[in-house]
Amino acid sequence: MVTIHNLGFPRIGRNRELKFALEKYWKGEISEQTLLSTVDTLRQQHWHDQLKLDWMPVGDFSLYDHVLDTSFMLGNIPARVSTLAGSEIDNYFRVARGRSAADTSSCSCVNAGEMTKWFDTNYHYIVPEFDKNTHFSLHASRILEQINQAQEIHQHVKPVILGPVTYLWLGKAKDGSERLDLLDNLLAVYAQLLSEFKNAGVEWVQIDEPVLVMELSQQWKHALRTAYYQLQASSVKLLLTTYFGQLQDNLQLACELPVAGLHLDAVSAPDEIPKVIDWLPSHKILSLGIVNGRNIWKTDLTAALDWLEPVHTRLQDRLWLAPSCSLLHVPVDLSSEKKLDADIHSWLAFAIQKLDEVEILAKALNHGRASVAELLADNQTAIASREQSKQVHRSDVEARMLEIADEMGNRRSPYHQRAIIQRNRFRLPLFPTTTIGSFPQTQQIRQLRRDFRTGQLAEKEYRQAMQQEIEVCVREQETLGLDVLVHGEPERNDMVEYFGEHLDGFAFTQFGWVQSYGSRCVKPPIIFGDVAHPKPITTEWIQYAQSLTRKPMKGMLTGPVTMLNWSFVRDDQSRAETCMQLALAIRDEVLALEKAGIQMIQIDEAALREGLPLRKSQWQGYLDWATRAFRITAKGVKDETQIHTHMCYSEFNDIMEAIAGMDADVITIETSRSNMELLDAFDQFQYPNEIGPGVYDIHSPNIPSVESIIQLMKKAAQRIPPERLWVNPDCGLKTRNWEEVKPALQNMVTASRYLSSHVSTEFKSSAFDLQ
Ligand code: GLN
Ligand code: ZN
Repeated sequence: MVTIHNLGFPRIGRNRELKFALEKYWKGEISEQTLLSTVDTLRQQHWHDQLKLDWMPVGDFSLYDHVLDTSFMLGNIPARVSTLAGSEIDNYFRVARGRSAADTSSCSCVNAGEMTKWFDTNYHYIVPEFDKNTHFSLHASRILEQINQAQEIHQHVKPVILGPVTYLWLGKAKDGSERLDLLDNLLAVYAQLLSEFKNAGVEWVQIDEPVLVMELSQQWKHALRTAYYQLQASSVKLLLTTYFGQLQDNLQLACELPVAGLHLDAVSAPDEIPKVIDWLPSHKILSLGIVNGRNIWKTDLTAALDWLEPVHTRLQDRLWLAPSCSLLHVPVDLSSEKKLDADIHSWLAFAIQKLDEVEILAKALNHGRASVAELLADNQTAIASREQSKQVHRSDVEARMLEIADEMGNRRSPYHQRAIIQRNRFRLPLFPTTTIGSFPQTQQIRQLRRDFRTGQLAEKEYRQAMQQEIEVCVREQETLGLDVLVHGEPERNDMVEYFGEHLDGFAFTQFGWVQSYGSRCVKPPIIFGDVAHPKPITTEWIQYAQSLTRKPMKGMLTGPVTMLNWSFVRDDQSRAETCMQLALAIRDEVLALEKAGIQMIQIDEAALREGLPLRKSQWQGYLDWATRAFRITAKGVKDETQIHTHMCYSEFNDIMEAIAGMDADVITIETSRSNMELLDAFDQFQYPNEIGPGVYDIHSPNIPSVESIIQLMKKAAQRIPPERLWVNPDCGLKTRNWEEVKPALQNMVTASRYLSSHVSTEFKSSAFDLQ
C-alpha cells in the first residue's frame, strides 16, 4: 500500500485568523491566553483538514516563524533579550519584531532578528544568531504538547523539524566564528529531542534538510554525514526531507545517509528520481513530492499516474506520496473563491485540494484507476479545458512573440550619447533629487479606492478625487523643491496587482493569501494565460500630473521580472517565455507614455534579485532572460526619453554586471541601511550610467539629517563621478506619513543643494565633459 502524508500546512488560516489574532495581541486588544486559544483552534482545524493522511504533520505550525521556533526549541535565544522581563512569548516576539506586547514604550524595543528569504520562496524567516559561545539546550515542551494533542485525533502523528545542518546553514555567526564548530553540541540536543519524541510514542519524524539542493562544500557535506550517522542511534525513524530543487552532486550523499526514508521534490527534479530509486538501499522508503506545493495549478493526475505506476511496481509499500514541499507557500482552500471565472477556478488547487490530489493518486495506485475513475475523468476535463482555452492561448500574443527581434532590446544610441541629449533636454542641477514613486497612502486614499471598488463611488467622482490627491502630491514636491517629480501612485493598491488588473492573462483571488513573514501575507496574482496590453493604463494619470508642473514628471511602471516574481506563474510554458510576454505588454505602456509626452519613465524591478536560482551555477541563465525582458520593455523609446529603474535590495555586488547590462539611464537602489557599503561593488566594477543610491531609509520612521545625507553622498562620490549621481530615498514612501516624509525630503533637497554648490571644491571631480 502507498502511504500518504504532508510536509506542512499553511498556518495563516482560511480567513487569515492567525494574522488578525497576532495583530490584536500586539496592540494589547486581546490577552496572551486569547491569542493562544485562537491559535489552538486554528491548529485543530488544520489537523482536521488533514485527517485522511496516513501520517499527519505536527510541529509545522508556528506563531511567527518555524526557524525562530527552532531557535527557541534549541535554547538559542539572543543574549539581548534573554535577560529582559516577561514570559517566553514576550522574548519570542522581541526577537521576531523588536518588541513584545508588553513593551508599550518605544524605549523598551530591542533589535529584531534579521529576516531573510527562505530559499527561493517569498517566505521570510528569522535568521538564527550564533557566536562561538553559543550553547544549545532542549526546550521541547511546546512541540511535545502539540504531539500529545494531535495524537488524540490521529493515530499516526509525524513531527516536523528543521534538520541540524540546515539550521546551522540558515544562521549567521555574528562574531565570524565557524558555525559548523557548533554541530557536536547541536547534535547532542537533537538526539535528546528525538528520544523525547520516542517517549511520546512517535514512530516517524520528518527532518527537513533542504540544504541538500544547494551547492555544498566538502565541509557541509561532511556535516550531513556526521549528523545522520550520530542521529542514527535514536530509535525513531527519520524521514529526511529535501525540496525546492535538484540534488545534483548531493544525490549520492542523500541516498546514503543512514535514515529510514527520503523525501524528494519530484516536481523540481523528476529526472533524478529513477537514479535515486537505483541508488536507494532496499530498506528505505521513498517519499515522492508529486503535487506541486509552490503553485496553485491542478496536477495532471493521469500523467502523474503514468509516471508513478512503474515506480510503484518497483517500490511497492516503500512508496510514499506527498506534496513537493510544505503547503505554506499556497493559499488554504479554493472552495472559498466564489468570484473566479468558472474555467479558471476549475484549473486550480490550493492546499486542501492538493491533499485531495495526493489521496486520489494513492487510491489509484492501491486499488487501480477504476476506483477513482470519476475523479480522474473530472481532472482530465479540467486539464484539457486549460490546454485548449482561448483565454490561455492567444494567436496574437504568439505572433508578437515570434516577431521579437534583438534590436528591440537596444536603445538607438549608447548611454554616453543619450546622456548628452538628455542633459540638454532636462537641464537638471548636479545631484538632482527625486523619489521612488509612491507618496503616503493616507486613510483617505485607501477609502476612496475601496469605495470605488465596491461601487459606492462612481468612476467620474473617483477620478476627480484621485486627481486631487495627485495635485496635492505634486504641489508638495514643488514646495520641497524636488527636481524630478512623480504623481505619487494613489490609484495603486499594489505595484504588481495594479498592472495585473489592467492586463489580459491575469486573474485575482479573494482569499488567496500566502504568508510572507509573521502576520504579513501577500495575495499574488495568477498569471493564467497569454499576457497582453489591451489599452494604456497609466497615461491619463501621468499626463494629468505632468500638466500641473513644468518640472519633469516620471511615469511609473512595474517591470516584467517583478510582475513575474511576485505572481503565481503558469506552469505550461517556461518562466522566461511568460516574462517576455509581460515585457511586450509593459513595452506597449512605455511607448504609450512616451507618445503622451512623458519624458522620463521609471520601470521598477524591485524583485529582480528574488528570482535568482538557488544554485549559483544557474544564475547566469536567469539573469540572461530577465535582463533581456527588461531591455525589451525599456528600449523602444527615443534617445531623449530618460529611462529609470529601481531595485530595492542591497546585495548588488554579485549581479552588478547584469544590472549594468540593463542599461537604464538612471538606477535608484537601496543603500542607506548599509551605510553605502554596498557601493563597495563599484570599486571593482565601474557602473557606467547614472545612479541614485538611497539616502533615506524609508523602512524606519527616523528622519535623516542633512549632515548624514551629505556624508552618504560623499561616500558615493568616491566611487561614482558626481555628475552621474542622484539623490533619492531607498524606496517608495507609501508606508510613511506626511509628517515624516516632508522633513526628510526637505533635508534631502538641502543636502543636494549643498553638494552641488560644493562640487568643484570638495570633489576631485572627474571631467565634466558631459555638459
Ligand atoms: N514605485 C514603487 C513605489 O514607490 C516602488 C516600490 C518598490 O520598489 N517596492 O512604491
Ligand atoms: Zn523599492
